[in-house]
Amino acid sequence: MSELLQVEQLKAEPGERVDGYLTVAEMQDGSPVRLPVSLVNGAEPGPTVYLQAISDGDELNGIAVIRQVLKRLDPARLKGKVIAVLMVNFHAFHAHQAFSPADGKKMNRCFPGRQDGTSSERIAYRLFHHAVRQADYCIDLHQGGVRPMIDEVRVRVDRRKRIHRACLELARVFGIGYILDSKGPDGQLARSGPEEGIPTIDPELGGCHGWDEKSIQKGITGVENVLKHYGLIQGTPHIPERQVVVDGFFSVLANRGGFIEYHAELYDHLQKGDPVADITDPFGNVLETLRAPEESIFWSHNLRPMVASGELVGMLGKNIWYV
Ligand SMILES: [Zn+2]
Repeated sequence: MSELLQVEQLKAEPGERVDGYLTVAEMQDGSPVRLPVSLVNGAEPGPTVYLQAISDGDELNGIAVIRQVLKRLDPARLKGKVIAVLMVNFHAFHAHQAFSPADGKKMNRCFPGRQDGTSSERIAYRLFHHAVRQADYCIDLHQGGVRPMIDEVRVRVDRRKRIHRACLELARVFGIGYILDSKGPDGQLARSGPEEGIPTIDPELGGCHGWDEKSIQKGITGVENVLKHYGLIQGTPHIPERQVVVDGFFSVLANRGGFIEYHAELYDHLQKGDPVADITDPFGNVLETLRAPEESIFWSHNLRPMVASGELVGMLGKNIWYV
């Protein structure tokens, strides 16, 4: 028999799903800041998976993924527990931006949080200590902001750490096909989780305004792959036999100002010297052709079709290997 699942005052008995809100802060007028949380406690024991979305306030694909995953989860058949925080960065979400306007911070630089810190640090502290630390596996759903990006998953822990292997395996099981394996900055949940011994990944589900249906579908498959692989739900995960791994990026910068005409598309596997884009003047004359400096994957590009000199045109994933 499974045990009670509890996050602060929210409680779910074995075989039960409970949706509710955690009050984590106060607004300027004293009204409560409440985060929507879902607890799904399987009838049978098994691992605990923590999911969160909207750590960056304008990255909305993750909440669409979690809602669909929850809809399809049956607590009577679940072997284990799922803790889902559907919206982490309340202040940033309401401001339609990545950063919290309450302290100007990015939530994903604030983990594991501080009890007496700034607004984002306090919220991170509550979630990390009361929810994340109960988990055996942790998935922090992100996307490349509003800039177009491929669907990929990130491993942010130092390769020399022992837990790196478990994080990379979790990324492989997520099965989205493209992995960035690169130590992240301090304060990322995908670094703080592993420091507590919890394998953690940071899926990046495309980049768009609003919801992108294709990226959301890949996110649902990824989360369900994890639930299947680690035995929480029945079924065979859909994991590609060969997935691309890169360990960093080349930045493709414009030397001239103008309009971008892309030669390459996202996901293209480029060889050294392949053209990425032309920079053109307002009349359409080509000012320069930007090329891949090495073999690489076209990972993300500019939102708008114009750039100033020195502005980013695109990012290319480098040092390709496969898992
Ligand atoms: Zn993000």
